[in-house]
Amino acid sequence: MPVLYDRVALIGLGLIAGSMAHAMRRGNLAGEIVGTARSAETRAIAQEIGLCDRVVDTAAEAVEGADLVVLAVPVGAMGAVAREIAPHLKPGATVTDVGSVKRAVISAVDPHIPEGVHFIPGHPLAGTEHSGPRSGYAELFDNRWCLLVPSGNADVGAIDRLRALWEGMGAHVDLMDADHHDLVLAVTSHAPHLIAYTMVGVADDLRRVTDSEVIKYSAAGFRDFTRIAASDPTMWRDVFLTNKDATLEILGRFTEELFALQRAIRSGDGELLFDYFTRTRAIRRGIIEAGQDTDAPDFGRAKAR
Ligand code: NAP
Repeated sequence: MPVLYDRVALIGLGLIAGSMAHAMRRGNLAGEIVGTARSAETRAIAQEIGLCDRVVDTAAEAVEGADLVVLAVPVGAMGAVAREIAPHLKPGATVTDVGSVKRAVISAVDPHIPEGVHFIPGHPLAGTEHSGPRSGYAELFDNRWCLLVPSGNADVGAIDRLRALWEGMGAHVDLMDADHHDLVLAVTSHAPHLIAYTMVGVADDLRRVTDSEVIKYSAAGFRDFTRIAASDPTMWRDVFLTNKDATLEILGRFTEELFALQRAIRSGDGELLFDYFTRTRAIRRGIIEAGQDTDAPDFGRAKAR
């Protein structure tokens, strides 16, 4: 694969940007990777482990001469970063982001993008509960989807090049409208995370069952919830604050279904429960058949570092 961008600037050096750096190197997709992060500590670690070719102190410095700029900070920080880098962007450059919510990022970033710079928002549907500069790995995006949500008048050549980058990093790429993205992700990611946070919170509150019992006798269902509920608090706070409407819509429906299942349990309606669980089992089979998970006992998580 030929080099797609001579210089890539990564703003934020956590799980996603770090994985991009490794994956771009694996595929020889970038001439030079320049990175920066908010704290001196993260920048020092990135330097020490050689995450980028160059680590610089500020976002403004990082984007100088960059052909591609990737905003890989929490959703709530995207607007401030865009404001800082705007005067330093190279004409003709592409700016993208990896934020988990799209409409709010577009509203925060787009007004700062100068004429002649292409803004193509994106979201790789891949992650783990780990964060920070040491958490990334080259295979994170392999066989995962990356959704790009360009505006109607975005430059086709710039979209194609960004698509080629994500494909070179192992992902499949789809284009999607921002509002639709936010609704789909509320169903597949945001509401499930909130439910996991709640379930782990309930276990934590339930004093009749001791903390040590919760940990010692942790069964598979609860263990999976705790993995999800260990995700980065800043990132997830921002997701819920910025994808408010879609998440509340899905949680409303979730609450109704939960009441229906509660009623079935109370009234002993085994048929309803059986039919419901049969329907949900088919969705799981669909995900495995689509290659988006494995039915190995550890769900393939041994690979996820
Ligand atoms: P991460 O590992 O926590 O890294 C976040 C990076 O952003 C760090 O380098 C941090 O710098 C920097 N940062 C934090 N707050 C900032 C601020 N206010 N201003 C400037 N920089 C700031 O996060 P991540 O998991 O890579 O997530 C990055 C983005 O990807 C988020 O928008 C998230 O929604 C999205 N995303 C995450 C996942 C996932 O599963 N984790 C999946 C898909 C998309 P310091 O280290 O110096 O604090």
